Amino acid sequence: MTRVYNFSAGPAMLPEAVLEQARDEMLDWQGTGMSVMEMSHRGKAFMSIAEQAEADLRELMGIPDSYRVLFLQGGASTQFAMVPLNLTAGGATVDYINTGAWSKKAIAEAKRFCNVNIAGSSEAQNFTTVPAQDSLQLSTDAAYVHYTPNETIGGVEFPYVPDTGEVPLVADMSSTILSRPVEVERFGVIYAGAQKNIGPAGLTLVIVRDDLIGKARGGTPTMLDYKVHADNGSMYNTPPTYAWYLAGLVFQWLKRNGGLAAMAEVNRRKAEKLYAAIDGSDFYSNPVDPACRSWMNVPFVLANPGLDASFLQEAEARGLTTLKGHRSVGGMRASIYNAMPEAGVDALIEFMADFERRHG
Ligand code: PMP
Repeated sequence: MTRVYNFSAGPAMLPEAVLEQARDEMLDWQGTGMSVMEMSHRGKAFMSIAEQAEADLRELMGIPDSYRVLFLQGGASTQFAMVPLNLTAGGATVDYINTGAWSKKAIAEAKRFCNVNIAGSSEAQNFTTVPAQDSLQLSTDAAYVHYTPNETIGGVEFPYVPDTGEVPLVADMSSTILSRPVEVERFGVIYAGAQKNIGPAGLTLVIVRDDLIGKARGGTPTMLDYKVHADNGSMYNTPPTYAWYLAGLVFQWLKRNGGLAAMAEVNRRKAEKLYAAIDGSDFYSNPVDPACRSWMNVPFVLANPGLDASFLQEAEARGLTTLKGHRSVGGMRASIYNAMPEAGVDALIEFMADFERRHG
């Protein structure tokens, strides 16, 4: 068996050590005689797994006691609706920053419930940058400000955390969470689908400040109310137990490997060398403002798109998979989350140089 370097944007690679541990524990979790998949979510064994995962995440991210951590389902896409439903009453104004495809989806959903003010947008620049803090036109009466710190498709990342004063800041961190340290205190709500840097698909993490819980507007479905999940330890209904367990293994792997500061160092290095390889060649290019380039998702195009198919085919043959860009933009995209080893990035760079020598 050979494992490949999988550059998928999500579901994405998981650390090999985590997969091995899951394999070893598959049939009999710590002498219980059953798989985690077969356990009651309310039993002692699973409760210990769930609590440990939350404690480890709190330690890794430095999450203050005044925040609740929710382990939910529905993906980040469900948060596009849960955020306005929980943080606003009817008729409210909310601010959104538009930096690409995922911002747009969040905005479209919020418009179903609120008056959306676009406080900043990089659409005129074709989403190759993000609006500067001093260009943001924040409403005086906004219930919250929403932004996407990392646009997974465009490969554009905020180099700063927007300052929104007293107005709660809401961040869709799906494709950047755990890639580096963050000051959780700066945020009212952080949410992320798990399938990139956390664990398998099916789990959605929501980190929400206490004072923002318990204010869902009338008519909010029970399952979409943060308070219901907070009051029930994310076990109002059956949670995604196996994904929760695997996320816990990933958190332990992160702790063993130096935590988020150490991840940041490696992630910066991986991204810098890949961008340097792209910029150092006329054969490949990346259109994103260097100040806003994503550490996690690196899109690039070949000067001759006629070579795209051969590029992908040859890469695949070398065990470098899922490099095809998102269907909306074409070209290539290398997603290099925490679990992508530096050796995987090195192998990609070497292949790119070799492909250029032969076809350039
Ligand atoms: N936001 C961002 C930034 C994403 O990258 C994605 C998924 N690629 C989503 C939201 C949607 O997440 P989900 O599929 O978990 O609903």
